[in-house]
Amino acid sequence: MMNPIFRRRMILSLAALLPLLAIPNVEAAEKLRLLMIDGQNNHDWQMMSPAMKTSLEGTGRFTVDVATTPGKNASKDAWTRFQPDFTKYDVVLSNYNGELWPKSVQDSLVAYVAGGGGLVVVHAANNAFEAWPEWNDMIGLGWRNNTFGERLTTDDAGKVVRTAKGEGPSSGHGPQHEYKLTIRDADHPVTKGMPMTWQHSKDELYHGQRGPAKNMHILATAYSSKDQGGTGTNEPILWVIPYGKGRVFTTVLGHVNGGETVAIRCIGFQTVVARGSEWAATGKVTLPIPKYFPTDAVSVSTK
Ligand code: ZN
Repeated sequence: MMNPIFRRRMILSLAALLPLLAIPNVEAAEKLRLLMIDGQNNHDWQMMSPAMKTSLEGTGRFTVDVATTPGKNASKDAWTRFQPDFTKYDVVLSNYNGELWPKSVQDSLVAYVAGGGGLVVVHAANNAFEAWPEWNDMIGLGWRNNTFGERLTTDDAGKVVRTAKGEGPSSGHGPQHEYKLTIRDADHPVTKGMPMTWQHSKDELYHGQRGPAKNMHILATAYSSKDQGGTGTNEPILWVIPYGKGRVFTTVLGHVNGGETVAIRCIGFQTVVARGSEWAATGKVTLPIPKYFPTDAVSVSTK
């Protein structure tokens, strides 16, 4: 538990913030087309999607469309009409955790990413689709039972530690709290320029994520303290995976439920999603680290 004396927060108004998130020369930057998918989730996806759309478009780098799936137990006809054309987009962001998509939609996403498209996976989106093998390959680790696959953590020096299937904890998290991210690759375009450690606003800290974990490159971890219901080791929080000619970026940050949105009002979260999306789309990042990015001691969120 962090000493409250040293726990500091900064809260900015969104109006003050948007110009700080924006890239300096918006006119010169080609807009990237991002497709956000939602429609089912055990989180407040109806709050998350508009908030992410606003902060992504606020950077000046993206236009964002949202494709909403049918609700739970919808008719087959309703699902037949859900046919997003991924090929019209530079990057697809999943804010979806629900029923398996029709096989044709699964296949078109796999072909899109394998063919060079970008995929961004936010928070509970990695809880979805346990029965879809290519999805598990793309996300690397998901919210699964420990019998599902391997687990990846790092030691304090950042060296990756693999835990075998069936050993160690299944996926979980302790009570929500503020916690610190530690950058494990400071040269990757997404994390380059971020403080080596920075304080995230109150959120869930996922642990024991499981999966095929092939070709995973961990960008940031967080120490999951046993005092906070965690595992006593460094859990992966941000990672990337190459998939065919495409790129997949995952952040497990971003819990929103019961109307509490502070996790996605964190400037760190918003920066991670924007830079992760730009990287997934292009392989490069031009978006700057905002002036009021969190520091080792201070979390920063919008109002
Ligand atoms: Zn959550």
